[in-house]
Amino acid sequence: YTNPAVNLTQTVFHEDTIFALSSGAGVTAGVAVIRVSGPHAADCLLKISAPSTRQKLPRPRYAALRKLYHPLSEELLDEALVLFFPGPNSFTGEDVVELQVHGSRAVISAVVNALADCTDPDTMIRPAERGEFTRRAFENGRLDLTAVEGLADLIAAETAMQRKQALWHLSGHVKETLEEWRTEIKTCLAHVEAVIDFGDDVDDQVFEDIIPRVQALRAQIKAHLDDAHRGEIIRGGARVAIVGKPNAGKSTLLNALAKRPAAIVSPHAGTTRDVVEVQLDLNGLAVVVSDTAGLRDSTNDPIEIEGIRRAREAAARADITVLVHDVTEGDLETALQALPSRLSACDGTQDPDDRADQRLVCVLNKVDLVNTSDQSSKDKDIEVFKTSLLRNEGVSELVDHLESMIRVVCEGGETGGSSENTKNTNTKNTSELMPIITRARHRHHMKNAVAALDSFVQGRTGAIPSLYLPMDLAAEDLRIAGKELGAITGQIDSEEVLDVIFNEFCIGK
Ligand code: GDP
Repeated sequence: YTNPAVNLTQTVFHEDTIFALSSGAGVTAGVAVIRVSGPHAADCLLKISAPSTRQKLPRPRYAALRKLYHPLSEELLDEALVLFFPGPNSFTGEDVVELQVHGSRAVISAVVNALADCTDPDTMIRPAERGEFTRRAFENGRLDLTAVEGLADLIAAETAMQRKQALWHLSGHVKETLEEWRTEIKTCLAHVEAVIDFGDDVDDQVFEDIIPRVQALRAQIKAHLDDAHRGEIIRGGARVAIVGKPNAGKSTLLNALAKRPAAIVSPHAGTTRDVVEVQLDLNGLAVVVSDTAGLRDSTNDPIEIEGIRRAREAAARADITVLVHDVTEGDLETALQALPSRLSACDGTQDPDDRADQRLVCVLNKVDLVNTSDQSSKDKDIEVFKTSLLRNEGVSELVDHLESMIRVVCEGGETGGSSENTKNTNTKNTSELMPIITRARHRHHMKNAVAALDSFVQGRTGAIPSLYLPMDLAAEDLRIAGKELGAITGQIDSEEVLDVIFNEFCIGK
């Protein structure tokens, strides 16, 4: 995990040595990994080693087979592979010991208890808190915050695309870009400060040089902000909402997509009253499909009314809305009338600009019940699929289309061969596709940085130079922009933000 983009000048000394099970808890596996980090990690390993090896640490970063004993009772606990990573070249930057023990609960608990019993008046050895290993890695400059978030995402990744995006962040590429931007800001700031300190008649020339540079940087950052939320969508899953009137076949479609009976299918209208969400891995893409309550006006049932409100909300939040319509109840025109007016239905929390990229697919279902040639499919720029979900007809075409739409949402390109592209893509191409923004936190700071750069440009341009922002205030705008970008990598952090980020981890990470 040595990250070349991170400088190792900062170190935080922790007196406590921490330990935890780092492999999955609650599962019986062949091997379990217990990690120890801190100034007494090596002592702990020696204390629980067999008397014959108690004086000798294994060669750094080489695996050694050791019998492990309880430090007080001398009871044999397990035979394990042990590794010693001396700081600062370890994950946390401190001395780290990794014990690869047999994966049973009994072995894990015996070894963990033995480590706890290594505590003596001079050495504090205690169980690690949630995310504490990674927090130490951050504090010791081994990872920046974008890499920390990448690591959290990598541990949580369920699809190939999520894994790729997480690795991209973990490997420091995002930090590199942010650092380039900050360096550009610092250079511009240096020029402005030179004018403040020494300037006079050089002022105008300096600003003539700087303003295009600031505008170019602003355009670069803005281009990432206008990424149609790709990073957030890859991370959280593309949201597909299935909407339509009761009994149209929405639950049947959800089950067909999920390939299991996730939602109850019933001929009784109003069966689905809440939003049923299913997470799917659609050829490497994370998708959250929600089946919603049927949209109808003629109900007095308060639970169903709430269900319909939630359905509208789900449709408002969705990246793709699939409208399912029963063909026996009319043509596409009728189907579109059933469509909730998606943006107006949203509860005001959504920025309509942000959702301008919503996509719609219409499914005319139950074609087995009618003469299909009678069915109009006037397109109106909307994709229309005729299906018999009951007979599994038209489903694969629909699924293929949804997949290519989701791929467009995640990759930001256009359809047509894009799925092939991704399957064959090499690391470089994948990297080029990876978005910088994966969280609201990133978006927030980048928006603030753009606003500060705008303020700088506006303050120093215009027809009336006497109204220009004083030089020191203009410099402050650049400083703010730099700080906002620095906040993303964790250069300027607050305890509160760090707590939120490290709480994403579980214990042992
Ligand atoms: P929802 O209320 O929109 O979720 O509709 P469901 O999926 O619960 O389906 C309502 C009824 O229509 C059920 O009895 C389904 O078996 C039936 N159904 C679903 N798709 C088809 C289809 O393609 N053809 C026919 N004939 N019946 C269908």
